[in-house]
Amino acid sequence: MKTSEIRQAFLQYFASQGHEIVPSSSLVPGNDPTLLFTNAGMVQFKDVFLGREQRQSTRATSSQRCVRAGGKHNDLENVGYTARHHTFFEMLGNFSFGDYFKEDAIRFAWEFLTGVMKLPKEKLWITVYQDDQEAEKIWLETMGVDPERFSRLGADSNFWQMGDTGPCGPCTEIFYDHGADVWGGPPGSPEEDGDRYIEIWNLVFMQYDRQPDGELQPLPKPSVDTGMGLERIAAVMQSVHSNYEIDLFVNLLNAAAKVIGTQDLEEKSLRVVADHIRSCAFLITDGVMPSNEGRGYVLRRILRRAIRHGNKLGMKDLFFYKLVKPLVLEMGDAYPELRQAQTQIEKILKLEEEQFAKTLEQGLRILDQELESLQAKQIPGDLVFKLYDTYGFPADLTADIARERELTIDQTGFEQAMHQQKSRSKEAGKFKSGYHDGIEVLTATGFTGYQQSEAPATIT
Ligand code: ATP
Ligand code: MG
Ligand code: MG
Ligand code: MG
Repeated sequence: MKTSEIRQAFLQYFASQGHEIVPSSSLVPGNDPTLLFTNAGMVQFKDVFLGREQRQSTRATSSQRCVRAGGKHNDLENVGYTARHHTFFEMLGNFSFGDYFKEDAIRFAWEFLTGVMKLPKEKLWITVYQDDQEAEKIWLETMGVDPERFSRLGADSNFWQMGDTGPCGPCTEIFYDHGADVWGGPPGSPEEDGDRYIEIWNLVFMQYDRQPDGELQPLPKPSVDTGMGLERIAAVMQSVHSNYEIDLFVNLLNAAAKVIGTQDLEEKSLRVVADHIRSCAFLITDGVMPSNEGRGYVLRRILRRAIRHGNKLGMKDLFFYKLVKPLVLEMGDAYPELRQAQTQIEKILKLEEEQFAKTLEQGLRILDQELESLQAKQIPGDLVFKLYDTYGFPADLTADIARERELTIDQTGFEQAMHQQKSRSKEAGKFKSGYHDGIEVLTATGFTGYQQSEAPATIT
């Protein structure tokens, strides 16, 4: 099954169970200034869960574009290292707004996977929140899941929340066993971080609204929010291990390899490039512009990281913007807004690339020189800052290079240098940059996406 067919099959299945098919919303959350990017399918329904907004239908399904490159859910540093993480991905979901609850949510998921997708039950592993006896009973007694492939886990893994505040609740998750060829252990085991058992679907029982002081306030109506990574289920259905081996990515990787002039599709840097073109192109489609603060800075960081990985593959010319076309070929049917924005995206990416290309080589040379005389295993904060300030290297880009050489960066030293510079400048922006957690949005006035003067004319 092609990725696009799986997307369709999912939406159709849930439509046949009375769910309204709702289009993906923007990556820039319209209703939540505290959230960096849309990081899950439930984001556009947040106010419905909170009881602040009414919808005609009490059941919905969607394939939501998501970015996890900052904030509470940040997978930027996983890209290229795991088989399952992207900065941009699509989350398939079904939602109940005070309609069905645990039993139907579990039944639908199980029926979709084992009935519609025809996955063997022996390959599926289940986890529940340790205190959730109700969900446990449904899995073991009603669905007849083998206790061998079942575990109870703590809040770290089985209590889901969108951010530090907002809707949340216990969850139950479904994993797929990719087989003994791959390193890793079942969920809850010491080797769970390996990529053998890959989490495919999370069913969240939305019961609370977390307050800024941490208190859990019950929601008006218990609800359901589920999320399944489209690329992960596609990997399962296409009998490949990594998300980067599914049809969509193979086409994208081939296009990238051709532009860059390499052969090896398993090359980590090529995967990073193919991943990052998706997040960059979609963020621009949704009105985010590269800048030095807020969402725009996250975009710039992803973009520069991609360019550095292209450079690492030996690419000395502009290349990144050339990947927009193959991306549109892959995803333009599902996302007409991407196709519509193609020319703008190319223009913006090319401009950014031209700017960064000027300092990238130089910065890399300085870094290499300094590393030659480096005694410790850590790159000093003032060097990280110099690279940032003079050569436009975001700190996580330097951290990415450091990691390849088995070094770390002095994050605290960098932040101190940064802070000193900031206190020199009186400019108080509405965003605060946190270099590991991404960006904290400090204002409640909403986000406009870019400075008016920089706004691309035709992007809405
Ligand atoms: P993981 O533990 O693998 O990082 P997660 O627990 O952070 O995943 P959830 O927040 O539960 O993920 O999101 C629901 C589903 O979305 C996951 O089960 C997975 O299928 C998918 N997903 C999450 N993060 C990513 C990502 N970075 N890239 C691709 N798919 C993802
Ligand atoms: Mg995660
Ligand atoms: Mg998880
Ligand atoms: Mg999860």
